[in-house]
Amino acid sequence: MLPFARVAVIGLGLIGSSVARAVRAAMPGAAITGHDADPAVREAARSLGLADDVTDHPGAAVTDADLVILCVPVGAIGAAAAELAPDLPADAVVTDVGSCKASVAAALAQALPPGTAIVPAHPVAGTERSGPEAGFAELFRGRWCILTPADGTDPFAVGRVSAFWQALGAEVAVMSPERHDRVLAVTSHLPHLIAYTIVGTASDLEEVDRGEVITYSAGGFRDFTRIAASDPTMWRDVFLANRDAVLDVLQRFTEDLTHLQRAIRRGDGDLLFDLFTRTRAVRRGIVEQGQDDARADFGRQDHGR
Ligand code: NAP
Repeated sequence: MLPFARVAVIGLGLIGSSVARAVRAAMPGAAITGHDADPAVREAARSLGLADDVTDHPGAAVTDADLVILCVPVGAIGAAAAELAPDLPADAVVTDVGSCKASVAAALAQALPPGTAIVPAHPVAGTERSGPEAGFAELFRGRWCILTPADGTDPFAVGRVSAFWQALGAEVAVMSPERHDRVLAVTSHLPHLIAYTIVGTASDLEEVDRGEVITYSAGGFRDFTRIAASDPTMWRDVFLANRDAVLDVLQRFTEDLTHLQRAIRRGDGDLLFDLFTRTRAVRRGIVEQGQDDARADFGRQDHGR
């Protein structure tokens, strides 16, 4: 049996369009409605056939829905929820896909009518691309989706949202929003911040010709540029919304970096070797858990170093 029969997707960019495609593929009996604030995105969604109905007004997309899934940038989730609140059926479950959870949970609770079943979620899957053309149905397959319901949320609603993500191919975990934000600050937000910094620093360095940075990018820089190409709106919102956890792990990272700086200055090869051995084992663990490609250089043909 389908966990939901009428799914409304609000925000039809990379994640929203992937959700719509995945619902179409995995839950063929479900009706899909969609809305996006951007008229050009709505037009693209219509021509891609992402939903049975793409509406110009957010309320029109949710009037019949039994699941509403907000796929807009974290900073816009509260406003998007407030816009559709007057048209929300009393028994609809509301969820989202935002990359930060404590601020989103607060925004949803404030914007939606009291008693609404709210089950915030974060599919830990994505790419550096944006927009409705960038999505694909398999995006969530084999990836984790973390649910962060508030204490006291109806377990039946949590179970249905869990079944929804499992139907889309994801594995589901449940944790508190605060724990989610701390874990993701380490595994996602800090790496993005580092990538943005490295790419910014390299492009600012005056003594290295910009052309050479691009030409010899396969030395490692190239992998950072992929992450640093991620959507500016989304990532601005993530750092503003998860400020405390990010600043916390950034402090720890800065201390560790200083430690390494000292080891290099002192010629402490043992310290470097021990750390690099430990980090290699972390990579092995990720591959063993099926969270990345085991092939050298992610299976690229031109093995840059
Ligand atoms: P995206 O491709 O930029 O799509 C977001 C879409 O939402 C845009 O078309 C945007 O229109 C629209 N939008 C903004 N405010 C809106 C509103 N109030 N009502 C309706 N539509 C609105 O972004 P995305 O990568 O799909 O990210 C969406 C969410 O997924 C974010 O919360 C992000 O944190 C989360 N997420 C992203 C990834 C990833 O790798 N990208 C992974 C997991 C979770 P405008 O362009 O006109 O603003």
